[in-house]
Amino acid sequence: MRRVCGWCKKDLNPEQDHISDAPVTHGICSSCALQITTGTSRSAREMLNMVEEPVFLLGQGGVMHAANRSGCQLVGKEVDAVVDRMLGEVFECAEAGRPGGCGMSIHCSMCTMRNTLLETLDTGNSASKVPATRNLGSPEGERDVHFLISTEQVDGRILMKIDEVNGSDDS
Ligand SMILES: [Zn+2]
Repeated sequence: MRRVCGWCKKDLNPEQDHISDAPVTHGICSSCALQITTGTSRSAREMLNMVEEPVFLLGQGGVMHAANRSGCQLVGKEVDAVVDRMLGEVFECAEAGRPGGCGMSIHCSMCTMRNTLLETLDTGNSASKVPATRNLGSPEGERDVHFLISTEQVDGRILMKIDEVNGSDDS
């Protein structure tokens, strides 16, 4: 079967391109991958805007490099408030507001979003639709929010897609 890059629609080269096990990009050619991972956060965001679902680009340790339009909407932030922030800060995780910040509390070792991301960074293995719950701070107090997380490593960075978001509050 002929596979094309999900972004520029060029034929994929099975030797170089990201084709197998690609839950986020559905296969991406090396030049598109380079544009996303080595460009400025602005050029990365323009590429990511080709995807409808919320997608985030993260680097070592869970630092946010870029987010697409739906990603910014999901977290209710302008893109400038997302770039170079920690994962937990972007998602306003209650733990990120405590001393030490994102990744430092005892709860962080059980954070599915963070663990999925770090494992994909570490091993290069993609994750597909992993259910995760985050305890998010909000003006009404903390509440649990449910996500399905897919991650994929693209040239040393991680693309993270969020599939379903169902708030479990006020029901
Ligand atoms: Zn491409």
